[in-house]
Amino acid sequence: MSTDALRSAIDGLMGQAKSDLGELVAFRSVADPQQQPPEQCEAAADWVVRAFSEVGLQDVAKSRTPDGSDCVHGHAPGPEGTPTVLLYCHYDVQPPLGEDEWQSPVWELTEKPDGRWYGRGTADCKGNVIMHLTALRALRQVDGSFPCGIKLIVEGSEEQGTGGLEAFVPENVELLRADTICVVDAGNSALGVPTLTTSLRGMTAVDVTLTGLESAMHSGMFGGAAPDPVAAMVQVLASLHDAAGNTTIDGLDNTGTWSGVDYPADRFRADATVLDGVDLIGGGSVSDELWARFAATVVGIDVPSVANSVNAIQASCRARVSLRVPPGQDAAAATDALIEHLRKRVPWNLRATFEKAGSGEPFQGALAGPGFDALKAGLEESYGREMVTEGQGGSIPLCNVFQQTYPDAEIMLYGVEEPACLIHAPNESVDPREIAGIALAEALFLRNYGAAAGKA
Ligand SMILES: [Zn+2]
Repeated sequence: MSTDALRSAIDGLMGQAKSDLGELVAFRSVADPQQQPPEQCEAAADWVVRAFSEVGLQDVAKSRTPDGSDCVHGHAPGPEGTPTVLLYCHYDVQPPLGEDEWQSPVWELTEKPDGRWYGRGTADCKGNVIMHLTALRALRQVDGSFPCGIKLIVEGSEEQGTGGLEAFVPENVELLRADTICVVDAGNSALGVPTLTTSLRGMTAVDVTLTGLESAMHSGMFGGAAPDPVAAMVQVLASLHDAAGNTTIDGLDNTGTWSGVDYPADRFRADATVLDGVDLIGGGSVSDELWARFAATVVGIDVPSVANSVNAIQASCRARVSLRVPPGQDAAAATDALIEHLRKRVPWNLRATFEKAGSGEPFQGALAGPGFDALKAGLEESYGREMVTEGQGGSIPLCNVFQQTYPDAEIMLYGVEEPACLIHAPNESVDPREIAGIALAEALFLRNYGAAAGKA
């Protein structure tokens, strides 16, 4: 079967993709009733139900999840003996986050002279909703049917982190069971570079409190001999990094390297808004530091603000240390190592308490298997170049839930959200060539995957 027919079908479907994405972007589907009326999410979910029913999925319906949001699910059987793919995306979006900085209306798809389509959610993740629709429409047009079993799950509260779908999955195991799970809420490492995201860092956090006095005391009368817990905290926190900025926690090996795509330092500097002349930290490459190593960050310290400061030694001081955990490492063990590391460095016999402030394990996606091979071939054929792999520094707890619930499934992350999309920022946009390119890759993947099973 020819790729060209699919490619030209997708070209022909891009007008519909644009008008559909425009309709979907117009729903202010921020899944927080404090920010937008819940009717906006309801209307977006109804739109998704209608669109995937029209493309030929069956039993497309909304279900309430424990956080009060609705997910949308549906399915279509494949030819006898073919495996099933679960396609994931989400219809809720981030709020505008800086309405004044938008150069076009937040909730209106706007095409600019650079050819990109602007508006909240055009990429994350409504662009991926439309990409799935385009891939399925093209398969229907060209082949008349789907080449393998398809299941769909569209989340309604991903951006809120309230875990509705994470709770729904283990309660609806058969509804969503699949051989391969495509978490389509990621993107190429750069525009036009076919990319699979293969791992996500985990995270852990510890609150450390140091106390030396019963109450704050005048620094003129007592300073010099009375132990200052703020100075002690500075010493303790300073031990988390060496002079080059490497994270140095006793017992945690921090020499991991990333074997996939390189993240060029100059592009990282721009993406991370690092000021001219200021150094990047750590001894590894940017990819090593982001995707293969531990990274400790002091995310909060409780001390008087400068404006409210008086000449006093504080009775106590509290800080929260967050630790990103690379794939292959254990977040629970890393938490214990972090606490032991901090405990050993508390000076002057100050009273110290350590509280765990939440953790999530890292995630390792598929690196081989029939689904992986079929998607890799699809991405490479669509883009005409070799696929690369990257990690993601943040975590997506749903991936771990999928892995625990379906330990035999291959789980893969990709999508239309390349770095220029500015997701979670003002002036979010999508490049329609990525919608077309990923839709073709996905359609080819589904074809390859169904065909491989037929041959086996
Ligand atoms: Zn997203």
